[in-house]
Amino acid sequence: MERLALLGGKPVSTEPWPETNTIGQEEKKAVCEVLDSGVLSQFKAASGPDFLGGPRVKKMEDAWGEYFGVKHAVSFNSLTSGLYACIGAAGICPGDEVIVAPTTMVASVTCALVYGGIPVFADIDPDTFCLNPASIEAKVSPRTKAIVLVHLFGYPADVDKVMAIAEKHGLVVIEDCAQAPGAKLRGQYVGTFGHMAGFSLNYHKIIHAGEGGVIVTDDDNLALRLRLIRNHGEVLVAEMGVTELMNTFGGNYRMTEIEAAIAGEQLKKLERLVQPRVELGDYLSDRLGQLPGIKPSRPDEPSSRHVYYMYAMRYDEQTWGIPRELFVRAIRAEGIELRERYVQPVYLEPMFRHKVAFGRGFPFSSRYYGAEINYEPGLCPVAEAAYGHELIFGKFCRWPLTTKHMDEIVVAFEKVYARRTELVAAYV
Ligand SMILES: *Cc1c(COP(=O)(O)O)cnc(C)c1O
Repeated sequence: MERLALLGGKPVSTEPWPETNTIGQEEKKAVCEVLDSGVLSQFKAASGPDFLGGPRVKKMEDAWGEYFGVKHAVSFNSLTSGLYACIGAAGICPGDEVIVAPTTMVASVTCALVYGGIPVFADIDPDTFCLNPASIEAKVSPRTKAIVLVHLFGYPADVDKVMAIAEKHGLVVIEDCAQAPGAKLRGQYVGTFGHMAGFSLNYHKIIHAGEGGVIVTDDDNLALRLRLIRNHGEVLVAEMGVTELMNTFGGNYRMTEIEAAIAGEQLKKLERLVQPRVELGDYLSDRLGQLPGIKPSRPDEPSSRHVYYMYAMRYDEQTWGIPRELFVRAIRAEGIELRERYVQPVYLEPMFRHKVAFGRGFPFSSRYYGAEINYEPGLCPVAEAAYGHELIFGKFCRWPLTTKHMDEIVVAFEKVYARRTELVAAYV
């Protein structure tokens, strides 16, 4: 076998991998139609049909709802805005606790703060990197009102177990499916279990419109409240006869007709984009899973579906005898874009460590919150271990990559494993 590239040998992968671009003629045509119409957004913060946006927004929402088999789909200008609206619609008040994941894109945590809620971090599972239901249950208190469950990296989290916990304690469940459109838990789409669920249409996601988000729900009242928050609900409540005013004042979280037109075309491609991801991910897991000290995160049930927004694995430093950082350097030298350190556990960010979100200590030390919240290191040991030395991942399972690229990953891993003593001799 060739010498390690990090030690001067020839890399396993010598050709650059193709980029992914899912935008084609369909999107171009749809956008041109909007431009030709001259109406780039039809939303109005006033009663009447335009309160709910223009024709493309409505059409895309209908298609989204039909695709996932849910009653209501409500579009937003981002999922971040959509999550704010979910927290508002859920009736979160200052001092209410919301159980969240430490390992996630920050908006799935900060959404709670916008309404004065207190994010309470539960720990993750070491193999799936999604919230561990037992840890969620351990964090439930008399103040808990909601759970934000993230299907991280496209893995279908244990949402049915989380729903059972929520039912027992009367909690609202918001699924964050930003990274998991098309993922399934035992044959059922994630995003259809919780009281509300959100998808992102940000550029980095599996399908995108540049920016955008969609919240789905089967609950008429939640849908109404989401729509009020999206579009200045304060001027609509009287006319609509809404008497529960709390959190109905709104922002401008509206999607434009252009984004909706692109999103509609992207939704049509979702399955075509997801299916190859699943095939590549399964192919890779079959092979990498044979290596000692590498545990791909893969659902046990064949009817569950991971969509591999990121291909994530658990790396065991002990087995390999090399620190993760050196391992990742060695693999990267072979031409494989393996990564470590996804995001640090969110509670380690200065805003949480110093408990400063808004002014005057709000919401953490406000009189509405009669408890002391802990955001100290050590809070979620599994999340910290994943960040510190266990999690490795890459954007490997994407169109138009093929099994040839997956084979390069496998060969690079095998090569580094076979020659790991040389790495140790040179660097450790
Ligand atoms: C991207 C992302 C978001 C936020 O989505 P935006 O549309 O970019 O606001 C929320 N949660 C997770 C897990 C994400 O990956």
